[in-house]
Amino acid sequence: MKLLEERILKEGVVINNDILKVDSFINHQIDVDLIKEFADEVKLHFKDKQVDKILTIETSGIPMAFAVAEKFSNVPLVFAKKSKSATVDDNVYKTEIKSFTRNLVSVVTVAKPYLKKNEHILIIDDFLAEGNAAMGLIDLCEQAGSVVVGFADVIEKEFQGGKNRIREKGIDVFSGAVIKAFENNKPIF
Ligand code: 5GP
Repeated sequence: MKLLEERILKEGVVINNDILKVDSFINHQIDVDLIKEFADEVKLHFKDKQVDKILTIETSGIPMAFAVAEKFSNVPLVFAKKSKSATVDDNVYKTEIKSFTRNLVSVVTVAKPYLKKNEHILIIDDFLAEGNAAMGLIDLCEQAGSVVVGFADVIEKEFQGGKNRIREKGIDVFSGAVIKAFENNKPIF
């Protein structure tokens, strides 16, 4: 997405050639038109797939997942919840996800009634870095016996390897923008 790349170059702030801050249009203030355009691209990419439900992780995946759910005829959107405690309700699927931006591991859960056997799930997130969030969400789907039909993220940092981990599971990945590297804190597409 050309517009997204231009926006990243104009307003993104790179920290330590590692983390991209995009608070002015994705992670704090949200550019609704840009997110809707991302959702259009996701719909186009996965147009031949059956999608029964959208899955994301709180908090920053929710706006883009909502926009994508609308494009797939308003299918339900489920967001996995993060908790620091291992003592969670029994009627949940749970997994552990290491945060890329913070030094902590969260227990992440989805209540069992919201992920069903044989349901076709499209997973959405804001960023794809090492793929830990994606692998955790895939794990929750596997526990439920649901089928992951694809993964889409707004911004992928390709050099951090997440895409390969998802593809090794035979899952198709779409990214709105693919950053190949950061050089002197500048994104290279
Ligand atoms: P992963 O689990 O793929 O390593 O990292 C993806 C998750 O970490 C996303 O849910 C996202 O919230 C966060 N994340 C990873 N890298 C970045 C980044 O460069 N900028 C921001 N804002 N979030 C990131």
